[in-house]
Amino acid sequence: MDRSPIVIVGGGMAGFAVARELKQRGNTRDVLMLTADEGSFYAKPLLSHVISRATPAAALLMSPEKAASANHVRVVPHTEVVRADFEGKTVYAADGRAFTYGDLVVATGAKPLNFWHGDRIFSVNSASDMSRLEPILEGAKTILIAGAGFVGLEFANDWARAGKHVTVVSLDGPLRPLVPQSVSAWVEDNLTGAGVHFVRGRLTPMHEGADLCAEVDGTRLPARFDLMLSAVGLGPDVALWNQAGLVTGRHGLVVNARFETNIAHVYAVGDVMEFQGQAWRFVTALNHAARVIASNLGGQESRENFGALPISLKCPDSPLAMVLPRVQGSGSWEAKAGDADLEATYRQDGKLRGFVLGGTAANRRRQFEDELAA
Ligand SMILES: Cc1cc2nc3c(=O)[nH]c(=O)nc-3n(C[C@H](O)[C@H](O)[C@H](O)COP(=O)(O)OP(=O)(O)OC[C@H]3O[C@@H](n4cnc5c(N)ncnc54)[C@H](O)[C@@H]3O)c2cc1C
Repeated sequence: MDRSPIVIVGGGMAGFAVARELKQRGNTRDVLMLTADEGSFYAKPLLSHVISRATPAAALLMSPEKAASANHVRVVPHTEVVRADFEGKTVYAADGRAFTYGDLVVATGAKPLNFWHGDRIFSVNSASDMSRLEPILEGAKTILIAGAGFVGLEFANDWARAGKHVTVVSLDGPLRPLVPQSVSAWVEDNLTGAGVHFVRGRLTPMHEGADLCAEVDGTRLPARFDLMLSAVGLGPDVALWNQAGLVTGRHGLVVNARFETNIAHVYAVGDVMEFQGQAWRFVTALNHAARVIASNLGGQESRENFGALPISLKCPDSPLAMVLPRVQGSGSWEAKAGDADLEATYRQDGKLRGFVLGGTAANRRRQFEDELAA
């Protein structure tokens, strides 16, 4: 029986999901989690609501001790892996400590794309990012958000509900091009009703003395902003793994249907991985991948092709439930939008390939999921 340790690098939802799945399968090998942060567990999606619900990010954290014992994993905090030697099956921390593994799971996430820099320009991709922002947000009245993707919209709705004046600038409408124009317009209408101001165009933030101002397509926005959130997406942060020999794509570490990389016994999961040429930066995907990895490590062969993965937009004033089509090619969207509900379906050769439901239509989600699975 294999007694070699399983080493997980990264203590986010993906790393903990693998530990949890191993535990659930009765794993008896040592599981070690090396993580650059302090090793607490938290559900990152909840960061979207901390301001309007007056729940500080710190209140979402499960202590490292609890998280470790709940998941049967030995957490080694403040341990940033900086080098890997796959021949010697060893990873090295910044302070020189060496950790030998039998199987390695890379779960190091992705990093925010930062096109702009300044002392009042922030991005949020962790509880500690949010904790740093909280005191500044508390006194902020006018906020500029760059990006109208899931994260930008959820923060915009949360902060508008907390009484802030929020302006969202994006090149295209909300959630475009992932969803059709009619869905994007529905979300924009709802959030405009909730007090969010939308501007379309290319953003240039500018510091003028103590003030933060902005131009969009060369035209000055009238407001002065107390802070700006950059929410224009994430990019891979994989140089160390690439140097050690892992194949990297545009979005991260390339994995097969077992979530194994090009090097045997090295897996990748969560925001760091690229599967079938795409990033899969949401929780249902990392949970599926964690199950597959844990099964394979337990000796039960398992594969996944990410069929229909549900995701949601958690804006209280415009919630959406959806399964997005894998590719939007020869099919087409059809949408019915009313004041209180929205239903959009994507069909290819008559077959349902994806859907977006909003408002009361979300009650029919199961029906659409069943049709997708048929
Ligand atoms: C505000 C917000 C709201 C979201 N809402 C939703 C939602 O509603 N639904 C949904 O499905 N998804 C949502 N997401 C996305 C989802 O939270 C992420 O896909 C998921 O949390 C990614 O987890 P991860 O473990 O892969 O990465 P991360 O959370 O980034 O964790 C990476 C871990 O690796 C560690 N690390 C990094 N480099 C090293 C290194 N070299 N050595 C050691 N440790 C290292 C870090 O310290 C960290 O512990 C949201 C994201 C945000 C930011």
